[in-house]
Amino acid sequence: MSKILILPGDGIGEEVTKQCLKILDYLNAETNYNFEYKKGLFGGASIDDCGKPLSNEVLDLAMESDAVLLGAVGGPKWEALDHDLKPEKGLLTLRKELGTFANLRPGKVFPALSNASSLKSEVLKGTDIFVVRELTGGIYFGEPRYSKIIDKKRVASNPLIYNEDEIARVAHEAFKISLKRNKKVTSLDKANVLEVMQLWRDVVTEVHEKYYKDEVELEHLYIDNAAMQVIKRPSTFDVILASNLFGDIISDEVAELTGSLGMLPSASTGNKKGIYEPVHGSAPDIAGKNIANPIAAILSLGMMFKYSFNEDKISDLIDHSISEVLNAGNRTQDIAKENDVTLSCDEMGDVILEEIKKSESNFI
Ligand code: NAD
Repeated sequence: MSKILILPGDGIGEEVTKQCLKILDYLNAETNYNFEYKKGLFGGASIDDCGKPLSNEVLDLAMESDAVLLGAVGGPKWEALDHDLKPEKGLLTLRKELGTFANLRPGKVFPALSNASSLKSEVLKGTDIFVVRELTGGIYFGEPRYSKIIDKKRVASNPLIYNEDEIARVAHEAFKISLKRNKKVTSLDKANVLEVMQLWRDVVTEVHEKYYKDEVELEHLYIDNAAMQVIKRPSTFDVILASNLFGDIISDEVAELTGSLGMLPSASTGNKKGIYEPVHGSAPDIAGKNIANPIAAILSLGMMFKYSFNEDKISDLIDHSISEVLNAGNRTQDIAKENDVTLSCDEMGDVILEEIKKSESNFI
């Protein structure tokens, strides 16, 4: 039986993961699928309990689990703490300990929300981009890093280093994901001016030639051109593969296409386990009001079924149900227009669950 660790965290994290648990409970009770889940304290909630954002007990539970579903961490209460004691440090430690080297961020434009983006709806039509970002190497981790005075001038340096194994393993991840989608990978680099990016292009090409050539189309784009093309022709992209820095930038650009932070799920995957979480934070401004949009969290749960458990049908059922609920005009306040009646977080969770029950027989 698959084991899931649920870490609601802080602020709206508790409210949005509660909606995911309704779906898990339903699947456990009413279908042939069985998932065992445990809950743990994480982030600020864990600091309040034991002084650390990630306790040894919760880390052990994460190591024993097949996947982790996270809400969000952080908030003003813990902002003044030292860097190593802050809620966000728990997140970085968890990612490192679970060895999640690839960050997956889908940017799907739901037709019912195409007016929420800053791009014209006719340009966005059919857009469904999936960014695979290298997460544990590159310029954010390059050594030696420094900021110092040399010859009376302030100088700082962050080396951009990749070895071929780091590039190959994330390239495999992107190609494998594309096999479950439209079988096209666009790899971003700056091979025209950087040796490390030429290595990136060479290794991605080699992995493609050796393992995926017959099934997947590979395109290479320079990052500057890609930034332009994503805005100009978003619907022509399928999977985008990028280094840590370029992936960080392009995934926010892709996020803007979809219109709202409350709609964006993410996954961090590695050799075995995955961490699934909405892209948004703990939203202290709306926490406790039961008005947060739970869709990003529920889509993250859908990603867990697909990428950790190979249960594509449940994942498709969740995606379909969210589309239907949006098509029927259901909105939380963040995606509502002026005169729309809005649902609470709980109500949105309930209508999605009802749609899952209704559509279930078509999927599982
Ligand atoms: P945020 O994502 O929490 O909120 C930004 C804005 O978007 C707010 O106005 C918020 O109300 C709104 N928003 C976010 N999610 C929403 C949802 N599901 N439904 C409706 N509206 C939503 O970002 P922030 O305000 O910069 O950060 C708040 C705290 O969250 C900070 O402590 C930050 O460090 C932390 N944070 C955590 C994560 C994480 O856990 N992965 C990510 C980002 C920020």
